[in-house]
Amino acid sequence: MQIKNSKYEAVIGLEVHAQLLTETKAFCGCSTKFGDAPNSNVCPVCLGHPGVLPVLNKKVVEFTVLMGLATNCTINKHSIFARKNYFYPDLPKGYQISQYEEPICENGFIEVNLSDGSTKKIRIKRIHMEEDAGKSIHDQSEYTLVDVNRCGVPLIEIVTEPDINSSEEAYQYLTKIKQIVQYLGICDGNMEEGSLRCDANVSVRLKGEKKLGVKTEIKNMNSFRNVERALNYEIERQIDLLEDGEEIIQQTLLWNADLNEALPMRSKEEAHDYRYFPDPDLLPVIVDDEWKNKISSLMPELPEAKFKRFVQQYNLPEYDADILTQSKAIADYYEKVSSVASDYKSVSNWIMTDVLGYLNEHKIEIEQFPISAENLGKLINLITDGTISSKIAKEVFQLMLKSNDTPDKIVEEKNLVQISDEGEIIKVINSILDKNKNQIDEYLSGKDKVLGFFVGQVMKETKGKANPQMVNQLLKSELEKYRK
Ligand code: ADP
Ligand code: MG
Ligand code: ZN
Repeated sequence: MQIKNSKYEAVIGLEVHAQLLTETKAFCGCSTKFGDAPNSNVCPVCLGHPGVLPVLNKKVVEFTVLMGLATNCTINKHSIFARKNYFYPDLPKGYQISQYEEPICENGFIEVNLSDGSTKKIRIKRIHMEEDAGKSIHDQSEYTLVDVNRCGVPLIEIVTEPDINSSEEAYQYLTKIKQIVQYLGICDGNMEEGSLRCDANVSVRLKGEKKLGVKTEIKNMNSFRNVERALNYEIERQIDLLEDGEEIIQQTLLWNADLNEALPMRSKEEAHDYRYFPDPDLLPVIVDDEWKNKISSLMPELPEAKFKRFVQQYNLPEYDADILTQSKAIADYYEKVSSVASDYKSVSNWIMTDVLGYLNEHKIEIEQFPISAENLGKLINLITDGTISSKIAKEVFQLMLKSNDTPDKIVEEKNLVQISDEGEIIKVINSILDKNKNQIDEYLSGKDKVLGFFVGQVMKETKGKANPQMVNQLLKSELEKYRK
């Protein structure tokens, strides 16, 4: 959305938390599994009992370094954990283990594509490791319930420089971050379920002004669209205040998606002084070159490389390659279908329209899509080799969504094989022509459009099974025979 008052520009910095897909927690051996019985995945370490000692999960470091490398960060050889102290019922230890000074990754950037065709570089200030807190549940009884299963689940926090200047840029940045963590396989990227969380810092200033304005921080947005809406709301609110000669108060706001408004947190909740200090129970994390190189060698193909390869290997338009590589799971599906089907562009068309359309409509992910890559590949081959028309293929596709049958079996059982027998098609054509003498005259007097009418009739008569190219061609030659 364009800012209404063009004198101003927005300045945004994002803090994204991504929950890492490790089997066990960051500093103990408890399971990270989501949805287990409340308070079942806990031990003295993640409950913060006195005298226990945390031990760092090596995978957490490897995942964070992968993210750092994928976002062009410097990987610090030496980084330390700090205690961030605060009191809250879902934090039994009374502090969260995080990184403050000396984070593991710094000074990176990613590039995002914008709708006007330009690209924008957004600098990443730091990526650090930390642990999650538990969960307070307020809506299940007259009491507040606490589930501490999530205590100690590893997170990374990715913090940008204030380089983002619009809600669209923020949206594209988040999309890219989600894409990268999913490609790396370090986080499932699901914002609705909280495995990706975003806090947005916003200020506005007159264009040309170098100094940053006073910022507010918005929390509690659980979708990319909500981040976009919240930013639009807050940018306009700040501009209105400045235009009225008022001052922006630095504060934390909570996005209320129902009201479409960002409301201030109670100031008491906000007053924080975390008294960070180095955690005396944890040694510094040393990532030497050997380890860094080892992690780097695990780097999978990233979105941009996959995009380029799709254009080359499958000879796809950039538009297609871009859509197909948005998600790694879709890209994998495309490659599986293409290992069966020979017409790569046709595979792309089917996935972009029919498959993605179905996923959108049913709000499911490709993993839940009912048609296997192999069967979709076989279906496309049936069109390529002329066994069925593309129109019939759409019908078979619908049937495949409902059963696990192979396309061959469906085509055979429903008798859908394309009619490519010239004699058979001519017979149908002549029976149609016999019944529509007026339209023949119209056609011969130059009304070409009538041909479409005849094609339609033939397709209707053959229940869509006649080979369309042959119908067209044979109709023209049969009609010519009526010319005197
Ligand atoms: P805090 O100490 O309040 O957490 P930080 O310096 O850690 O602030 O920055 C947090 C985020 O806010 C970063 O993404 C940063 O880029 C962004 N940020 C800092 N100052 C501003 C500002 N004036 N306007 C918008 N974003 C800002
Ligand atoms: Mg901060
Ligand atoms: Zn534990």
